[in-house]
Amino acid sequence: MSQDQSHFITDIIDADLRSGKHSTVVTRFPPEPNGYLHIGHAKSICLNFGLARKYAGRCHLRFDDTNPTTEDIEFVESIKRDLRWLGFDWGEHLYFSSDYYERLYQHAVELITTGKAYVDSLDEQQIRDYRGSVTEPGKNSPYRDRPMDESLDLFRRMREGEFDEGAHVVRAKIDMAADNMKLRDPPIYRIKKAHHYRTGTDWVIYPLYDFTHCLSDSYEGITHSLCTLEFDNNRALYDWILANTTVDCRPEQTEFARLALSYTLMSKRKLLQLVKQGAVGGWDDPRMPTLAGFRRRGVSPEAIRAFCDMIGVAKANSLVDIGKLEYCIRDDLNQRAPRVMAVLQPLEVVISNFPEGEVEMLDAPSFPSDVGKEGSRQLPLSGVIYIERDDFMQDPPKGFHRLAPGREVRLRYAHHVLRCDEVVRDDRGEVVRLVCSYDADAKDRKVKGTIHWVSKAHAVTATVRLYDRLFSTERPEGIEDLNPSSLVELQGCMLEPSIASAEGGDRFQFERQGYFCIDSVESQPDALVINRTVSLRDSWAKVQARGKERTPQKRQKRDPRPSKDRASAPRAARELSPQQQEHMDRHVAKGVAAADAHRLASNPLLGTWFDAALTTHDAPQSVANWLLNEVSRHLKEQAELPFDGAALGELVALVDGGSIGQSAAKRVLAKMLDSGGRPQAIVDELGLAQLDESALGAIIDGVIASHPDEAARFRDGKSALMGFFVGQVMRATKGRADPKQANSLLRSKLSS
Ligand code: ATP
Ligand code: MG
Repeated sequence: MSQDQSHFITDIIDADLRSGKHSTVVTRFPPEPNGYLHIGHAKSICLNFGLARKYAGRCHLRFDDTNPTTEDIEFVESIKRDLRWLGFDWGEHLYFSSDYYERLYQHAVELITTGKAYVDSLDEQQIRDYRGSVTEPGKNSPYRDRPMDESLDLFRRMREGEFDEGAHVVRAKIDMAADNMKLRDPPIYRIKKAHHYRTGTDWVIYPLYDFTHCLSDSYEGITHSLCTLEFDNNRALYDWILANTTVDCRPEQTEFARLALSYTLMSKRKLLQLVKQGAVGGWDDPRMPTLAGFRRRGVSPEAIRAFCDMIGVAKANSLVDIGKLEYCIRDDLNQRAPRVMAVLQPLEVVISNFPEGEVEMLDAPSFPSDVGKEGSRQLPLSGVIYIERDDFMQDPPKGFHRLAPGREVRLRYAHHVLRCDEVVRDDRGEVVRLVCSYDADAKDRKVKGTIHWVSKAHAVTATVRLYDRLFSTERPEGIEDLNPSSLVELQGCMLEPSIASAEGGDRFQFERQGYFCIDSVESQPDALVINRTVSLRDSWAKVQARGKERTPQKRQKRDPRPSKDRASAPRAARELSPQQQEHMDRHVAKGVAAADAHRLASNPLLGTWFDAALTTHDAPQSVANWLLNEVSRHLKEQAELPFDGAALGELVALVDGGSIGQSAAKRVLAKMLDSGGRPQAIVDELGLAQLDESALGAIIDGVIASHPDEAARFRDGKSALMGFFVGQVMRATKGRADPKQANSLLRSKLSS
C-alpha cells in the first residue's frame, strides 16, 4: 500500500488515533502454513504491512497453525521467503499460534469455569443435526448443562489422550437460537491425534480457528485485525470470546474484499491439488498464481505491489480482470528489462553480397529513448543471419510489410535493407533458407517493415518456454478448466550474443515479442532456459482510445488501466491503412467491439478467418471472441491449421445454440487443432453434447447424495460451497453441463 492511499480502513484508523483509542497501529498477517502464498495473500500483506508502515506502527507475522494434519515447516519457510521477496519485514515480530497452546488451553478452562463453555459428547453428525438451519433455530445439546466440574474433568482427560477423536468437543455456551449460526455454541476445542510439525505429539487436542484467532490477536496487542469478507459472521464470535475471557487487550476485526482474479484459482487447497496431481511442475511453476511462481516467471515484487495499489481496498467483492495484473507487469518491465533480439522460430537468411568473412559491429541502445535509461550492447552482423519464420511469407496478403519474394525489409538497428531474391526449399517443399541481397546504405530509403534478426555465427541457443494463462475459463473451478496450451516449449531459439552472460532471474525484453526471464532453476550457462513472463501488448492504447469514441461502455470494461495512468500508456496501436480502417468500420458496424475489430482489421489472416467463420455462423462478436481468444495464438505458432474458418463458425454455432458448453467446446477445439475434423462429428464422437435438464437433475441428485457433509454445511449458510458443487457436477458430467443451469438446479435442490 502506498503511503498516500486512503480507504475505509485508514478512515477507521485515523478516527481511532484521533479519539485516543489507540496511540499506535499494530496489524498482523496470519497465514496458515498449509501452502504457498498466492497473489491474494499479497493483497493482504500489502494492506497489513503497508498500514504499519504508513502509521509507523508494526506488523506481525503470525503462523496460524492449529491444524496438525495439513501444516508443514516447508510452508513456513516458503512463506517467509516470499514475504521478504515481496519487500516486507516483520523484524522481531514472528509468532506462532502453536506457541500459545498452553495459554489458549487455560482460557478454555476459564470459559468452562465461568459456565461459558462445556464439554459436549454428541457426535459430529448429532451436533450438526442439533444446529438447526438458517430458517430453524437449533436445539440445546443434552450435555449443555452438565456440571462445570464434570466438563473440567473431561477436558483435562481429553488433553491427556484418554478419548478417541470425535468422542468429545468443547463448545462455547452462547445461544442455540441465535440468528447468526456462528453463535450456536461453536466448538472451540477438538481431539486430534496427529503429529504437529512444531509441537510434535505434545498435544492431542487443538483449538479451533475462531477461538485461536481473536486470542492470538489479543496476546500480541494487535489493534486492527483485518480479514476478508467471508469472516463477517465470525466477528460476533471474535468479540464474544474476548468479552468473556480475562484479556488485557480487545482488538477489533474489520473485513475487506478478498482478491479474486479472472482466469486464476486462489484456494490453497485447489493449488495443492494441481501440484499433487502433477498438473504443474510445483508450487513455483511459472504458471502458478503463487508468489514463487511469479518470481520464477520473471515478475518483479514491485509489479505485484503496484498491482495491489491499483486494485485498492474495498468493502465489496469483485472479480478483478487479470489484464490489470498483466498491465502492471508490463509497465514495470518496460522500465527494467533491457532490450535484446531473439529469434524464436529461426529461418536462415544468407546475405549473398555481404563481404565474405566480415563482421560488422552495430551499437544498439538497451532501452528506447522514452525510458530514459543509459546503456547499449554490441550487435554483430555477418553474412548469415536468422530471422523469425513468420516474418517471411511466400504469398503475402495485403498489408504484410515483411519479407516475401522480391520484397524488401529493414533490419533492426542496421542501415541495411534486405531484398529476398530466392527461396530455398527441401524435398517436402518446406522453406529452409532465404537468399537475400542487401543495400548497405539505405538510411534514407523508405521501407515499410523492420524485422529483428540474429547473426548465425554469434547466436546463443536457448530453450524458450512460452507461458500462457493456466486456466482457459474466467472463473476456473479446478483441473477441468486447465488451458491445454498454457505452456509451449520452443527449442533451438537463437539469441543475440549479449545474453550469454545472463544469469538466472535476469529479465529482458525480446524485441517485438515480449518480456522474458532466465529461469532460475533449470537454466545452465551453456543451456539457457528462458521463460516468457508476458507478451507485448501491441495495440492497446490507441485501440482503447478509438473504442472510447465508438462504444464507450465497452471500453470501460475492457481497459484494465485506471484512467489516471492512461496518459502514460506505454505504446500506441499501429495505424490502420485506409483500407484496413474500412474493414474495421465494417466489423464495428456488425457489432464487434472496437478493440476486437482493430485486431481483425490489422491482421489479414485473422480477417480472412473471420469472414470464413461468418459464412457458417453469422454471430460476429462471438466468432470474434473465439477467433481472437482461442484460435489466433495457434495461427501465430503454426503455419497452417488442420481446419478452416468455416469449421470454427460451426463450433461457435454449437456453443451459441446451447448444444455444448464452453469447456466441452474447448475440448472440441483442442481436437480440431490436433487433427482437424468437423465440430459436430467430434461432439458426437466424444459424447460431449450438453445434458438436458432431467439428465442433469439426476446427476445432481447423485452429487448431493455423495456429499452429505457439504450439503449440510451449504444448508447451514455456507453458500461459498456452491462453487464446490458446481465443480463436482461439471466433473461428474465431464463438462457436459451448462454451469448456469447446474447452478440454478443445485440451488433449488439444495434448498428443498
Ligand atoms: P486459502 O483459501 O487460499 O487457503 P486462506 O484465507 O485460508 O486462503 P490463510 O493462510 O488463512 O489462507 O490467509 C492468510 C491471510 O491472507 C488471511 O488474513 C486471509 O484473509 C488473507 N487472504 C487469503 N486469501 C486472500 C485473498 N484472495 N484476498 C485477500 N486476502 C486474502
Ligand atoms: Mg485460512
